[in-house]
Amino acid sequence: MSAVVIGVDLGGTNVKTAVVSSDKRLVSKDSRGTQAEGGPEAVMDVMQASIEAVMKSARVDTDDVVAVGIGAPGPMNWQTGIVYSPPNLPGWHDVHLAEAMKDRTGISTFVDNDANCACFGEFWSGAGQGVDTMCLLTLGTGIGGGIVVFGQLLRGVDGTAAEIGHLKVARDGRQCGCGATGCFEAYGSVTGMLRTAIEGIENGRSTILTEMCEKDLSKLTGKMVSEAIAKGDEFAAWVMHETAVWLGIGISSLINLLNPEKVVLCGGMIAAGETLFSPIRETASRLSFEVPARRAEIVPAGLGADSGVIGAAACALQRYEGKE
Ligand SMILES: [Zn+2]
Repeated sequence: MSAVVIGVDLGGTNVKTAVVSSDKRLVSKDSRGTQAEGGPEAVMDVMQASIEAVMKSARVDTDDVVAVGIGAPGPMNWQTGIVYSPPNLPGWHDVHLAEAMKDRTGISTFVDNDANCACFGEFWSGAGQGVDTMCLLTLGTGIGGGIVVFGQLLRGVDGTAAEIGHLKVARDGRQCGCGATGCFEAYGSVTGMLRTAIEGIENGRSTILTEMCEKDLSKLTGKMVSEAIAKGDEFAAWVMHETAVWLGIGISSLINLLNPEKVVLCGGMIAAGETLFSPIRETASRLSFEVPARRAEIVPAGLGADSGVIGAAACALQRYEGKE
């Protein structure tokens, strides 16, 4: 087996791990529960076991692996590999993740922000392959973001750049989890979409969503909105359209700011397909300048749920090779 690199996508619920060849093939992969409630040592035990499992199924030894890349939730210092206190990893405070995992595996280890990894994965071998400048939005509880400019992740001086979810789209708008108001993710994420639905229902709009969540609006999910649309519910279709328009507004700023070739969207919400993409494209194009609007293609991720794990491997390979 020739040289390979290992990617680890560390999420609050699952750890996904893959062996990726230097010619960008996914050789083997593994997914298991994070066991986040056990704290950092328990989570690192899971990551170590997962790394050992993918190496075994790919039939590679430590000597064959040039590096391990871990995509972790922020905040963090990507250069030192120290993860501060991610909200979805209880008990983590200034964990020296890169160093601790290197001690466990004996392999050079690099840590990067998970959304940056997903962006770099799409750039390396997904929907952004062959472009110079692109950005990625992960649509979930919030909106994660990554930006590649001239083939390099845009990190900023302190490594905190590309917080696309916290672009401001409204003055005195909705409260965001970050403490500010009017952030893009309070409108365009799955959570934002549910807030739009709840506001509408509380204002008396009639919809089958009310019975679907048994009148407990806190139980509303993105999947219910999609199901209601499939059943012909007009309000649910309006909620999706509103969310798409908010996404188009935020993306128009990215198009004017970056003049990207691709804007890649990932996360469960993109399963809505054209119902979502068509109003996003229409709004983004209408609100941005003509030349960059014509250039920017707004597309779904090409690697599906593997952008993060492949990207973690790709980031590690690039850093190992000293290109960053
Ligand atoms: Zn915010």
